[in-house]
Amino acid sequence: MREGKIFSLRICELCHSDAIEVLRPSVIVRDAARAPIRVAACRCCGLVFQLDRFEHVFYHTYYAERYRTVISGATDPSEQFLQDQIARGRCLYHSLSPYLPLSGTVLDVGCGAGGLLLAFAEHGWKVMGIDPDRSAICMGKKRFSFDLTACAAESMNIVEGTIDLIVITGSLEHVADLALVLKKCVSALATGGLLLIEGWAYAQARILGGFGHNQKRYFTQQSLTNLFALYGLQHELSTSLPLTGPTRPHSIFAIARKDGLIEKCNERVKADTQALRRMLDQHGII
Ligand SMILES: [Zn+2]
Repeated sequence: MREGKIFSLRICELCHSDAIEVLRPSVIVRDAARAPIRVAACRCCGLVFQLDRFEHVFYHTYYAERYRTVISGATDPSEQFLQDQIARGRCLYHSLSPYLPLSGTVLDVGCGAGGLLLAFAEHGWKVMGIDPDRSAICMGKKRFSFDLTACAAESMNIVEGTIDLIVITGSLEHVADLALVLKKCVSALATGGLLLIEGWAYAQARILGGFGHNQKRYFTQQSLTNLFALYGLQHELSTSLPLTGPTRPHSIFAIARKDGLIEKCNERVKADTQALRRMLDQHGII
């Protein structure tokens, strides 16, 4: 596969500030081997992200055809993967139910095989999922009668204002065009609808001892709070409680509501890169 050119971001992909500070010189690729992809932080919004990127076309081909093999060594998702999705979905439904209407429409962006949606479907929700990994979507279509589509999040085509809940569990850190995906999500949400984001990439960095190569950004609570503010969403909750159960230790979760006043911007949390550096050192991320 043609790998394409590498380029470096000059501004923060979230808030467009040029106050960028390199935190680490490389990421882990495989078996602790490292690639010279720099990880930086934005001094304005606190986003931690890969400064060096391939062109978008590379990522689109990568996720459609190679991602599954790279992360698991197999071309198709395993039964264990599907069962874990189902179990995480049951925990998530239970965790979110105090915030949810009795039924509605839920969209899982980066749904894999769609297992996370099963609990919602069983409780009367209309469920939809998109994922660029064709093998995972194929598995989900064989197993469930859900509305699952094989496409990149940047290409999803959701009718404006029709979704009551969007869940993105560890996938927003993978997308090539963060701004486009967030714009599409905000547009798809109904007034009063909820967006749940699980940050899993930073947690994985803690487990690996370094930032992974797959994700392009590594959310912290600070950056998710600022992300919501920048997109005019009302921040409802931030927690490191395991909302999807025990299989993703150290994950963080944040929930926001679209309240209909998109032009209203919450006050942003002040980014502190010195505190961020101390956190990386404390968590053994080198
Ligand atoms: Zn920023």
